Amino acid sequence: MPSSSRKDWDTYFMDIAFMVSTRSRCPRRHVGSVLVQGKKLLGTAYNGAPMGVPDCSEAGCMVVEEYEQVPDAESGISLKKKQRCIRTIHAEQNLLMFTDRVDREGSTVYVTDQPCWTCANMLANSGISEIVYHRIYPKDYEKVAALMQQRGIRFRRIDDYVAPPDTEAQVSGS
Ligand SMILES: [Zn+2]
Ligand SMILES: [Zn+2]
Repeated sequence: MPSSSRKDWDTYFMDIAFMVSTRSRCPRRHVGSVLVQGKKLLGTAYNGAPMGVPDCSEAGCMVVEEYEQVPDAESGISLKKKQRCIRTIHAEQNLLMFTDRVDREGSTVYVTDQPCWTCANMLANSGISEIVYHRIYPKDYEKVAALMQQRGIRFRRIDDYVAPPDTEAQVSGS
């Protein structure tokens, strides 16, 4: 794999994903994703409420609390309370709703954040053959990575990457 040319395209499409993510109106999380076939951009999507209903900036986030297992030096694993917003349809799910199956066969999804389990499960059944992400999401990493391996979908992180200026939202606490 020619890593030099590979990196250029990775940066190009990841930059687009980050630009797209700035469209999100959820103050808690801005996620962007793009569908790429060969070197052709076939779709873009971000996380948001369904069309025609108030979004997070208008109606506030719809927050649920849950406990998450996190690694702990002493006991091995401990529980940490986490909040997340469930008002939005995730970027990857919107991407699947607005692209065609035939276009997705063998394609690559670039996404600003590592997909959650639900999105990963849907992507695994969507015809795509590669997922490239930048920001990590440790909660679901292991089961998502295992799923992608089972499905033969390449799953990789661009780690030495810097997002374009002003595209990384500050996550607010409210
Ligand atoms: Zn929200
Ligand atoms: Zn998701």
